[in-house]
Amino acid sequence: MKAAFRFAVVLLGLLAGAPALAAPGEVVVYSSRNEHLIKPLFERFTADTGIKVRYVTDKEGPLMQRLRAEGANTPADVLLTVDAGNLWAASEMGLLQATDSEVLENNVPAHLRDPENRWFGLSVRARTIVYNREKVDPAALSGYAALAEPEWRGRLCLRTSKKVYNQSLVAMLLAEHGEARTEEIVRGWVRNLAAPPFASDNEVLSAIAAGQCDVGIVNTYYLGRMLRATPELPVTVFWPDQDGSGVHVNVSGAGVTKHAPNPELGRRLIEWLSSAEAQEMFAGLNLEYPANPEVPADPLIAAWGEFKPNVINVSNAGRLQARAVMLMDRSGYR
Ligand code: FE
Repeated sequence: MKAAFRFAVVLLGLLAGAPALAAPGEVVVYSSRNEHLIKPLFERFTADTGIKVRYVTDKEGPLMQRLRAEGANTPADVLLTVDAGNLWAASEMGLLQATDSEVLENNVPAHLRDPENRWFGLSVRARTIVYNREKVDPAALSGYAALAEPEWRGRLCLRTSKKVYNQSLVAMLLAEHGEARTEEIVRGWVRNLAAPPFASDNEVLSAIAAGQCDVGIVNTYYLGRMLRATPELPVTVFWPDQDGSGVHVNVSGAGVTKHAPNPELGRRLIEWLSSAEAQEMFAGLNLEYPANPEVPADPLIAAWGEFKPNVINVSNAGRLQARAVMLMDRSGYR
C-alpha cells in the first residue's frame, strides 16, 4: 500500500515534470571559474533542487589534461570554463558530449553555444574599446580596425597576445576580414602602441587612467570592477562597429563531460545556470552580461548603454585561434 502510494507520487511528479521529486544526487564540476564566483550559485542550486555540487577549481589547461588522463574513470560531470576558445578546444579533444535540451536552446542564443550542443555560453564578456574621457573625443572612435590608423600613433595600449582573450579577438577579425586585412590591422596596432603589451587588462586600464595611453581594448568587467572601487576613474567604454559587425563578445560556459557518471544531473545544473534566477547572479557577481537575453544586466554596466554584439558564432574563436596566434606573432604583437 505504502509502496503503491509512493509509486503514484513519483509517477505524478514525473507527469508534472516536478524536479523536486526526482532522486537527488551529487553532480561534480571541474571549474576554471573562480570559487567566489561559483560557490554561491552552487549553494542556491542545491537549495532549489536537493542536488549536491562537488567542485574542483584550477586553470583550464590542467583541468582539461586531468579530464583527458582520467578518461572513462573521471568523477566530473561538467566542465565550466571561460572563453569559447577553451570550450572549443575541450570539445575538439573529445572531452565533452552533446546535450539535447530545449531549456538550453531557449535560454542561450544560438551564436553563444556550440552548433553541436557540446557547450553552452552562460555569461557574455564584451571585449571592447575603452578610452580616457579627458583626452579622447568619442566621435574620433569607430571600430577595432580604425585603432590601426596613424592618428592613434603612440596612444594605444594592449594586453599581451599570449592571452586567449586577444587570440579570440583576432580570430574573430580573421573570420570577418580574412588573412591579409587582419594582418594589416594587427600591424597597425603594434605600430601605434604607447608601451609594450601589458600582462593584464587591469594594467591596460591603469595606464589609460594614468595618461600613459589614450585608448585600449579590454573586457568590460575589469572596468566595471575598477569603477566600483574608484567611480571617478576617467575611463569609459566605447562600443565599436555599431554600424558594422558589432562588439566582439566571448562567453564563459559549460558542457557535460564525455564520460560523466551523471550526465542527467550535469544537464540539470547547466539548465539551471541558464535560468533567469541563476543568470542574474552568474553574470552579476563578475559584472558580465547574462547570456539569457531575458535577464537584465547589473545597473553599473547597464549604464554604458545597449550595444550591438557581433553575432558570428563564438566557436569561430576556437577554430581560427591557431591562425590568429601565428598572425600576431609575425606581425610583431608580443
Ligand atoms: Fe578575465
